Amino acid sequence: MCDIDLAALLPQLAAVRVDAVEPGTGVVRITARSREGVAVACPACGWSSAWVHSRYVRHVADEAVGGRPVLIDLSVRRLYCENPACPKTTFVEQVTGLTARYQRRTPALHRPAGCGRGGPGGENRRPAAAVPAPGGQLQHAATPADGAAAARAVGAHSAGGR
Ligand SMILES: [Zn+2]
Repeated sequence: MCDIDLAALLPQLAAVRVDAVEPGTGVVRITARSREGVAVACPACGWSSAWVHSRYVRHVADEAVGGRPVLIDLSVRRLYCENPACPKTTFVEQVTGLTARYQRRTPALHRPAGCGRGGPGGENRRPAAAVPAPGGQLQHAATPADGAAAARAVGAHSAGGR
């Protein structure tokens, strides 16, 4: 029914089981889940565990495919750490290439723009930081006043709240 080779298109999905691909009008939505029975190392102590506490769904934005953004509803496991001396009772697994702690975008989206996307445009990019900003002195002088105003506003707010 769907003859797209998903593994070739999105190799980062090789580590998970894809349940559904919905090529909607705007966004390509992929439903996937991490594989059962795979032991994962606890981030605190390094002990491996495949003892599942629960699962929950993370919504991860991935690189665009065919110009359309990709959203992955990824079911990941919360696992028990089996090390009695570890301060972490449970931890959430990370899926290589798809998730990183506290991030809602896949690692691929964190690469600098142009990296890995070859082409003549990438090499002619001028470093924006080398251009001196006009009116830099004025901006610098205005900053402390803004900061003081912000501090007063915060002070007034917290005083009013008590
Ligand atoms: Zn642990």
